[in-house]
Amino acid sequence: MDLFTHLIVPFAILTLLKLRDFTIKDRLAGGFGGISIDFDFILVLIGFISPELFIFTHRGITHSFVFGLVTAIIFLYIISRPRVYGLINDLIKRDIKVEFSWKSVSLAYFGVLIHLFLDFLTTGGIPLLYPFSLIRFSANLYYYTDLVTTLVAIVILLVLYLRLDPKYKKIALTGFLVMLISFGGIRAYEKIEALESQTLNDGYTNITAYPTSDMFSWTMLESNGKNKYRVFTYNTLNHTVANLREVNSLSIKNGSYESAQNAIKYANTLPEVKKFRWTSPHTAINATSTSTGWNLTFYDFVGNHYGAREVTVHVEKNRNQIKY
Ligand SMILES: [Zn+2]
Repeated sequence: MDLFTHLIVPFAILTLLKLRDFTIKDRLAGGFGGISIDFDFILVLIGFISPELFIFTHRGITHSFVFGLVTAIIFLYIISRPRVYGLINDLIKRDIKVEFSWKSVSLAYFGVLIHLFLDFLTTGGIPLLYPFSLIRFSANLYYYTDLVTTLVAIVILLVLYLRLDPKYKKIALTGFLVMLISFGGIRAYEKIEALESQTLNDGYTNITAYPTSDMFSWTMLESNGKNKYRVFTYNTLNHTVANLREVNSLSIKNGSYESAQNAIKYANTLPEVKKFRWTSPHTAINATSTSTGWNLTFYDFVGNHYGAREVTVHVEKNRNQIKY
C-alpha cells in the first residue's frame, strides 16, 4: 500500500470511531504512526552496502511488531520537535503539532498495526515476528500498490486539507474505507475463482495464486511438491491462460548432481544468496560446471517482487567464492 493510504486509514478509523472523542492531534498521531514505518527507505543503503544486514530494507525490519513500535516512537519524537513541525506548518499552512506522550505513542502504534495489517494483505509479505523469526507473512491478496487506490487517497488528502465542513470530510473518509474493503472483497472472490477454475494434472499436486496489479489477473503457481513448477497468468474474466512456463528447481549443465548440490550448499551460506532467497520466495537454480568451479544463478521464477530478479555466484573448486 502507498504512503497516502497508510496515513489516511488509521486517521479515518480514529475519526469515525464513536467510542471516544479523539482530538485532531490524536488522529494525526495515528496517521503519523501509519506512515512512520515506510520511512525505512532510509535504511535501504545499509542493506545494500552490507548484504548480511538484508533485513535493513523496504518492508524489512520496521515492518515487525517490535521494531514497528521503536520506529513509531522515533518518528513521533522527531515530528513533535517544534523545529520540525514548525517548518512543516509553515510549508503547508496547517497545524500538524502532536504531543510526545504515552497517549500519542499508543495511537501511533495503532497506526503501525493498521499498516502492518494492510502490508500483510499485499504480495511479498512482511517479517512480522522479527527479531524472533525471519519468516515473511502474506495473505497475497492485494498487489504492492494499487494505482486507483493511490489516486483516490491523494484526492481524500486534498479534501482533508481544504477548509470544508467536517461532515464532508467524514463522508470522504468513509467512502475511502468502503472502497478499500470492496477491492479486498473482489480480490478475495477473484482469487478463489482463479484457484477453483484449475484442474491439476501432469503430476502437479499443489496450486497457489499471487496477485498482480490487475485484480482479474492472477499469477498461478503449480508444484509437484518436489522439484517441478508450472507458472502462468490466469484471467478470471476471460478464463484465459497466458505466459505458461515450466521450471525445474535445479538445472545442471556439465557436472554431476552431487557436486552441484555441494556447491549450492556452500552458496546458500553466502550473504548475497541468503538475501536473494529472503526477498524471492520462489527461487530456482541454473548450475553450470566450468573448468574452475560452478556458476550458480539463483533466479525468481514467479517474479512478483521488486528488486533483483537473479543473482549469480561462482563457487570455485576449492570453495573460494568469486562474485560476478
Ligand atoms: Zn509498508
